[in-house]
Amino acid sequence: MTGRFAEGERVGVLTTEPLGRVLDYRAPEGGCGPGDYVVVPLGPRHVMGVVWGPGEGGFDAAKLRGVERVLDAAPMREEMRLFLARAADYTLTPLPAMLRLATRAPGLGDPPTVRRVYRASGHEPARLTGPRQRVLDALEAYGGAPVTLAELSAEAGVTGSVVKGLVKAGAILEEEAPRDLPYPPLDPGAAAVRLEGDQVAAAEALVAAVAADSYSTTLLKGVTGSGKTEVYLEAVAECLRRGRQALVLLPEIALTSEFLARVEARFGARPAEWHSGVTATERRRLWRMVSEGGAQFVAGARSALFLPFRDLGLIVVDEEHDTSYKQEEGALYNARDMAVLRASICGCPAVLASATPSLESWVNAAQGRYGRLDLGARFGAAELPEMHALDMRPEKLPANRWISEPLARSVEARIARGEQSLLFLNRRGYAPVTICRACGHQIGCDHCDARMVEHRFQKRLVCHQCGATKPMPEACPSCGVEGRMAPVGPGVERLAEEVGTRFPQARVAVLSSDLFGSARALKEQIAAIAEGGAEIIIGTQIVAKGHNFPLLTLVGVIDADLGLQGSDLRAAERTFQLVRQVAGRAGRAAGKRGVALVQTYQPEHPVIRAILGGDEEAFWRAEAEERRVAGMPPYGRLAGIILSSPDVGQVFEIGAELARADAPLRRIGAQVFGPAPAPIARVRGRHRVRLLVKAQKGAPLQAALAEWIGQVKLPANLRLAVDIDPQSFL
Ligand SMILES: [Zn+2]
Ligand SMILES: [Zn+2]
Repeated sequence: MTGRFAEGERVGVLTTEPLGRVLDYRAPEGGCGPGDYVVVPLGPRHVMGVVWGPGEGGFDAAKLRGVERVLDAAPMREEMRLFLARAADYTLTPLPAMLRLATRAPGLGDPPTVRRVYRASGHEPARLTGPRQRVLDALEAYGGAPVTLAELSAEAGVTGSVVKGLVKAGAILEEEAPRDLPYPPLDPGAAAVRLEGDQVAAAEALVAAVAADSYSTTLLKGVTGSGKTEVYLEAVAECLRRGRQALVLLPEIALTSEFLARVEARFGARPAEWHSGVTATERRRLWRMVSEGGAQFVAGARSALFLPFRDLGLIVVDEEHDTSYKQEEGALYNARDMAVLRASICGCPAVLASATPSLESWVNAAQGRYGRLDLGARFGAAELPEMHALDMRPEKLPANRWISEPLARSVEARIARGEQSLLFLNRRGYAPVTICRACGHQIGCDHCDARMVEHRFQKRLVCHQCGATKPMPEACPSCGVEGRMAPVGPGVERLAEEVGTRFPQARVAVLSSDLFGSARALKEQIAAIAEGGAEIIIGTQIVAKGHNFPLLTLVGVIDADLGLQGSDLRAAERTFQLVRQVAGRAGRAAGKRGVALVQTYQPEHPVIRAILGGDEEAFWRAEAEERRVAGMPPYGRLAGIILSSPDVGQVFEIGAELARADAPLRRIGAQVFGPAPAPIARVRGRHRVRLLVKAQKGAPLQAALAEWIGQVKLPANLRLAVDIDPQSFL
């Protein structure tokens, strides 16, 4: 490690500006050290950067500008700088873009100050108006945490004067507090742990991995309700006992109050949270506390991986197969793979937990690169739900109905017993297609090659690619005939309509990510359902993720074939994971064996049979073999290149030029396919073509890609994105 730099010495500073390289500056008065957060002049501006190392030289020392200020923040550790550099190399992302991910905290360099915060006093005001009630509700939603005036009035949707009025009335306390407070300490011995069966051995193995103080990756495989969370929380406990920090990554939507409550029950306090629903103030606090050791345990979405932990001792990636771990915009990275990278640099264990692991992790475990722990029996209850296929071929359903008679009867039986049913359909909105009955025209998006989806709840047609919306037209945009536009196929909203007709007395809840204004509203709805607030739940894939509904004993999969359409090699894996996850929601409560009914038109399909049959290992072996024969990941390597431009001729021209200049790729034995229109060929008015590069497993792919792309001069309005290990193989 390099030592400090004395005043005037040449230092290299990396900024978040898209320059692509480290710039030389003179160290300021008092000197600076590697990793210091600094402000430097850049042209006429002042930008934040990090001292990356000694200056490179080669620039006239007399013209060198000075570092203006060293910020009052713990320096970025060498481990973090190495992680960012390696992640940038792996994903072919410019280093400044990686640094941006690691500095996403507002007011990073501000000196510690106090701020005015508000808390409920516990006294009711004499006069309680609607707006005042909203303020008190908002405070309660923050669970006693102090909030700023701006946050509170925004959350309650009131002006600051309403809050001030409540302060005068004595219902709210106004206090000065240090801007960033440490998080409440967690006690690894707070609760007695009751593990049983193979949970005991699994927890012991993970505790030993933490105690070993060295890098390892373990796949923790367990069906829903097998006690995965309880088991990995024991590894967290060991990490806390050793005074080190733990990070648990969750798919954003799974970061529910349920998980937080389980942590609180185990450790006597909640973890620090990092996700898009966290206020700017909290983000800043967490960022600082993590770097100073004032946060022991962070639960967060994928970007939490870029937090400046002072002493990271464990990373858990829960639901490791989840596709939301792949960032699909800006820096394209898979948080699961980056978690393994960060663990290897920190020298700490990584735990990948899932009931239905990604094929990549399954193969890594099968080949011995990862350890593997299996949890068989369910926690509390001993069985998986009964799974049955409902063959839809003999069902003669009318055109606008999707619930078969056997499924409907099962739902009725649950209602009669006071239990819940979940109907799963992985399609948001009312209908996926709107067609003109006069001419057959289908309404598409004006900016993308996608059909628009009717959302009755919002009374609009919505493009699921770019988010564009328009009202449902009265007359057909193609032939002009009025009153003949008709919905085709079901979305969850339309399914809710059918349920309303079929079960008019039942209380119905629809869970779909677009129906809730905020993460908090969604969490509240989930909590209400868990307490019995609905008899029938209709949901998209958000219901597959980690919510526990104790009264739920029946899962109906409306269309199991949906994910099997198309020719993507991952289709089988995805469908298997999703349907198994959803089915696993049934009957988690002790003594109640759940039932999952899977509606399908192809009950003989190998994936459907694997879902029902339960021989998971055979399914993974067959999938792995298919990939191996095709030379596809994880047995080969892939990189996607997406070119996009408003000019369709230009993207194909540059794509073809790249394809021709493939010498650097051929040198490593890689092949390039394309250019071909991307799976969605036009998004937000930009035409997209895709090239796919396929290489053998050990080939030095990144270096060859960089050389290959570097040969072609790109026009200003053309964008090129490299996607290493793409999710889609098309
Ligand atoms: Zn028409
Ligand atoms: Zn669109």
